[in-house]
Amino acid sequence: MQYYSLNKQAPNVSFKEAVIKGLAPDKGLYFPSEILKLDNTFFDAISEMSNVEIAFKVIESYVGNDIPEQDLKEILADVLNFDFPLVEVKKDVFALELYHGPTLAFKDVGARFMARCLGYFNNQDAQQEGVTVLVATSGDTGGAVASGFYNVPGVEVVILYPSGKVSDIQEKQLTTMGKNITAIEVEGTFDDCQAMVKQAFLDGDFKGKRNLTSANSINVARWLPQMFYYFFTYKTLKHINKDIVFSVPSGNYGNICAGMMAQKMGLPVKHFVTGTNANNTVPHYLEAGDYVAKPSVATISNAMDVGDPSNFIRIQEIYNRDIAKLRLNLTGYSFTDNETRASMLALFNEYDYISDPHGAIGYAALVKYLSTKKDIVGVFLETAHPVKFLDVLPEAIKEAVIIPESILQIIKKEKKAERIFEYRELKTFLLK
Ligand SMILES: *Cc1c(COP(=O)(O)O)cnc(C)c1O
Repeated sequence: MQYYSLNKQAPNVSFKEAVIKGLAPDKGLYFPSEILKLDNTFFDAISEMSNVEIAFKVIESYVGNDIPEQDLKEILADVLNFDFPLVEVKKDVFALELYHGPTLAFKDVGARFMARCLGYFNNQDAQQEGVTVLVATSGDTGGAVASGFYNVPGVEVVILYPSGKVSDIQEKQLTTMGKNITAIEVEGTFDDCQAMVKQAFLDGDFKGKRNLTSANSINVARWLPQMFYYFFTYKTLKHINKDIVFSVPSGNYGNICAGMMAQKMGLPVKHFVTGTNANNTVPHYLEAGDYVAKPSVATISNAMDVGDPSNFIRIQEIYNRDIAKLRLNLTGYSFTDNETRASMLALFNEYDYISDPHGAIGYAALVKYLSTKKDIVGVFLETAHPVKFLDVLPEAIKEAVIIPESILQIIKKEKKAERIFEYRELKTFLLK
């Protein structure tokens, strides 16, 4: 499979190169040159297939010859060694719980897949001198990347996070790993962290000293494996024989865009709904027709505080930038923090279901969409474990959350982080 840059000013590359580069040299996102349809025999047999078998069929054309079948299957078995429960909240409404991975975030699947691909390519090219993954996090990405890349040969990971602005649990997830994972605590905001990362990527002084790469959702190895969730859901719901609608709480739009790729491959999906917080760039675009990137505003669903979603350009590519076509397949709603809290309380009081703020937005968006529809099965994606957002859960729900053993363990560990104030210090650290 070849990947082209959406800026169309860079040469096509293989999967391997797209993973190693992250972003094309012309700063465009990579996009696969073909989206192959899966045949009927696959969909007929899906109920009898294991998650790993399904994942292999879904991803094999995108990986191409860069990882042989047996190795790819081993990588997938390792990446997908936890559950993806589909919980019926009420008749024909399901929560797809994507938070049962090691860091309790749905980003675990993408981070683990990317890490293992990168580790595989490093092993293959013994002469290659290894890479440093440099990433800024506002909370959830960092933990998933730290855990996913832990102990991966030839990969150093440096994670920047804003001091005092991530939750205690998230900070512990970032700062207690050790080995090839270094946490850098920045005196500043998430935007400051991101600016430092960008500056490092543009800094010529690292040439020949450190190969820097990024691990955010623009990387095809983080983006594409998210297609699996939608196929796993279909496997479970196929027997109901009703149209399926997915509601996806969205920030950078990587997850929902992967769902749209799954649909392009032939997965029967009737419609997508996107739920956002006050950062409503995409719902506004769908309604008014103009895309207006905005600075992000802080909300209680902070993993979706994105004013200019990086993957939206991939959605535009899927629909040939035709907003009429897109509107036929995607509906968007945005919610205030108060509406988000009300949605968490509705799920808890009416159905005894505990959601995190992001999942609650997915649920609220689904309810709004389904209010005028019938004979549909609705699935909202629950993207994080509620324990990670304890500080913003309504009091009654907070008390009901059972803290997982893995979190109890991590809270006891000692935080280790380098504290910095400005880019110069990051540079000195990286050149050490
Ligand atoms: C990253 C994240 C999202 C948003 O996913 P995108 O693919 O960026 O749209 C939603 N919920 C949680 C908990 C996240 O960490």
